[in-house]
Amino acid sequence: MAPKLWLYDTTLRDGTQREGISLSVEDKIRIAQLLDDMGIHYIEGGWPGSNPKDAEFFRRAADMSWRTAKIAAFGSTRNAKNRCEDDPNILALDAARTPVITLVGKSSVLHVEQVLETTRAENIRMIQDSVAYFVARNREVIYDAEHFFDGYLLDAEYTLATIVAAATAGASTVVLCDTNGGALPDAVTAAVRHVTAVLAAAQLQPVIGIHTHNDGALAVANAMSALTAGARHVQGTINGIGERCGNMDLIPLIANMQLKLGYDCLPEYQLKRLSELSHAVANFVNLNPDHHAPYVGRSAFAHKGGIHAQAVAKFADSYQHIDPELVGNEMRIVVSELSGRNNVRMRAEALGLDIAGSERAILQRIKDLEQQGWQFEAAEGSFEMLIRRAMPDYQSPFELLDFTVIVNAVAEGSMISKAMVKLAVGGQEFHTAAEGDGPVNALDRAIRKALLPIYPQLAGITLVDYKVRIVDEHLGTAARPRVLIESAQGDQRWSTVGCSENILEASWYALWDALELPLARYAEKVL
Ligand SMILES: [Zn+2]
Repeated sequence: MAPKLWLYDTTLRDGTQREGISLSVEDKIRIAQLLDDMGIHYIEGGWPGSNPKDAEFFRRAADMSWRTAKIAAFGSTRNAKNRCEDDPNILALDAARTPVITLVGKSSVLHVEQVLETTRAENIRMIQDSVAYFVARNREVIYDAEHFFDGYLLDAEYTLATIVAAATAGASTVVLCDTNGGALPDAVTAAVRHVTAVLAAAQLQPVIGIHTHNDGALAVANAMSALTAGARHVQGTINGIGERCGNMDLIPLIANMQLKLGYDCLPEYQLKRLSELSHAVANFVNLNPDHHAPYVGRSAFAHKGGIHAQAVAKFADSYQHIDPELVGNEMRIVVSELSGRNNVRMRAEALGLDIAGSERAILQRIKDLEQQGWQFEAAEGSFEMLIRRAMPDYQSPFELLDFTVIVNAVAEGSMISKAMVKLAVGGQEFHTAAEGDGPVNALDRAIRKALLPIYPQLAGITLVDYKVRIVDEHLGTAARPRVLIESAQGDQRWSTVGCSENILEASWYALWDALELPLARYAEKVL
């Protein structure tokens, strides 16, 4: 039987410690629902004693029903000067009404004596009292041993005594935390074995857990070392978001443990939703999905070189470590000047377009444009439009006749951008004008103003990212900006590109493809 692992997500607490991330209560509830839906076993919602937002989250969570997950509230052991009964932090934890309480305590003598400024014995009592307080109130208690690995190096005996104290008081799980993120895999293995032996000698059988950070780029490796040494509970965040260099990333951890080592983490059908989960959480925390993220990134199974692409066409596994569908990802053939006709045909086939006869012309067009600084690798939307426009019966849904953009600096720090466009749709001309936050935004608004009454399906499309690169690959000419636009509608995303010596023209090309692509696909469905 494959050993069962308990997955504990702390995206909503440790994850939000990442610089620049702030989640509303609504966001936190929605993320928690996603995690519950995925089959994650524990969801740490926050620290109710630390801020009113977290307290509000727990108020709402207590009245909701959860399918698979247990909600956990996080907080520290009682203050050295307080009894549990009148410790404000303990009371706030109690008030969160969660089935699980995760108590963080000091396990390193350095922190006990120099940060907490209390005695070793008092710290042990604080752990025992706090754990016992919640066990007596029928809560499942998870004990997080802060700075476990650093403490273990300084004074292993004391650090182990804190773990034994928590387990004796009734903690169901004792979690060894690499709070500073500097541990190494072999040391983690050795420590987990030692903890297991010490607990067994004391006739205690809590689940052993692991909580790691990525400061040495080893968070996943360290967690895996702990799990293969016998730990059964693992804490991390989705996409590894967290303070400094991040927390342990649950996504590759789950994939590695389940697909490579056969542990039981999630049902198979849920595993197929890992990519979706990763992208959805990235959206909620307002970060662009990392295209190169292992397992779930857009490029994780992308093949660019002509030989690789040819090989995977013959035998899919020849250049990939797993079948991408197992984690809900897909193999992609990347189009670039490096690639041959084969790639172009395969990409077109994947889009359901038959380009027999025009392959050579399309490839030539790609080569010419790439020579001028365009790049289609990261712009599949523009590649698709290039193919569609090469089809003999293609009809453009609209045509831009001309546009004017004015940027007016009215006062220091205050600029107004206005755009005027002239468009033709089916022989009829439309003139519109709009203001925007910048020239590209004004242009986008003016074009949509003209198109929306005719194509209401454009309403849900948003531009989610706009990037400019200076292309210096072809020397001797002026630097050319290359603009990449990423658009979204529902959970669909597409990237488009434009390149020109004029940044507005480059932006226009990218914008044009961004708006025409959904119309072209829509027209195809209708016909
Ligand atoms: Zn942490």
